[in-house]
Amino acid sequence: MTVVHAPPVRLMHHDAAERPFIVIWEVTRACQLVCTHCRADAIRSRNPFELTTDEGRRLLDDLASFGAPRPLVVLTGGDPFERPDLPELVAHGTKLGLSMALSPSVTDRLTREVLVELHDAGAKAISLSLDGASAQTHDSFRGVDGVFDATMEAARMVREVGYRLQINTTVTRNTVHELPEILKTVLELGTTLWSVFFLVPTGRGKLLEPLTAAEEEEVLHWLHDVSALVAIKATEAPHYRRIAIQRAGVDEDSLDDVFPVGPLRAELRHNTEELLSGHEPRRRHPRAPIDVNSGRGFAFVDHVGMVYPSGFLPVSVGPVRDQSFPEIYRDSLLLQELRDPDAFGGRCGQCEFRTVCGGSRSHAYATSGDPLAEDPSCLYQPVVSA
Ligand code: SF4
Repeated sequence: MTVVHAPPVRLMHHDAAERPFIVIWEVTRACQLVCTHCRADAIRSRNPFELTTDEGRRLLDDLASFGAPRPLVVLTGGDPFERPDLPELVAHGTKLGLSMALSPSVTDRLTREVLVELHDAGAKAISLSLDGASAQTHDSFRGVDGVFDATMEAARMVREVGYRLQINTTVTRNTVHELPEILKTVLELGTTLWSVFFLVPTGRGKLLEPLTAAEEEEVLHWLHDVSALVAIKATEAPHYRRIAIQRAGVDEDSLDDVFPVGPLRAELRHNTEELLSGHEPRRRHPRAPIDVNSGRGFAFVDHVGMVYPSGFLPVSVGPVRDQSFPEIYRDSLLLQELRDPDAFGGRCGQCEFRTVCGGSRSHAYATSGDPLAEDPSCLYQPVVSA
């Protein structure tokens, strides 16, 4: 029998210079939570200069104009549920053939009624944030008591209404030890995709402590260890793809010899085994991470219509109020540079994994002011000179 091994990284089926794989649109910055790590520095009320409903519809027209395969569209915030025209926008995108997903905050606005209305309008997936394993850690992270319990309730509702559920978890040095417990909850909730976000010191996230590069390496290996339990997305840690490729070349029994298990991974592994013992979670073939990066298959549109390579890389490349989105995406000099891994500085520019990883451009920018600089959150030393 021939055994077919899936590739460790999924490649886009189209030219990333021509069209994005996914576009995130921040429909508003308004939000009733005051999370300690908020990228958007969210505020309580809506900005009067937000893209209007008509402008939003035009943006969705622009995204659909790429043709098949059309980009995935995620409507985020702030809290997208603060916009009363959200069902209209979702229905418009769906009619155009776009796959629409939503990233709401857990507030009183997230009700079964609204979830049903948006599902009827065509939304397919909802992502919710879970940054701690208990009410104590999650609520203090989110700045509001009771959000943990409300999130558990919302996640169940999301599944019952028929959405795919994505859980987003921000990892900091304070919360990293809770990852096994969060994983257990992620599995219990029937999550389709667990997005683990490696904090970029931008927005209110500057107040939190990110992992060191060595700790991040340990956590990424642990995530790969558990990737047969749930699909994993390592947000702002594209070197997860480097790790996936490195591990694919090693026999399963030799992994710990080739990639020695440090104290943090040993702790995460031990606690995972204890927490999941007797549960027998369903195992599947791990879903390989997809090869997209800031400006290369990925773009972000803010609440007033400015386009960015990522929501965590605050260098605007143009307003959709003045130019079409495809024009900005294809012609922006910065986006073109971000799609050229040979243009990267330091280790990333010399790295043999640069075309499939390329480093977190947001981490590079947040620490050096240069989006093309080396990614300091990766500890890899390239072995092949460019
Ligand atoms: S050095 Fe840069 S390109 Fe190479 S694996 Fe690390 S982050 Fe990726």
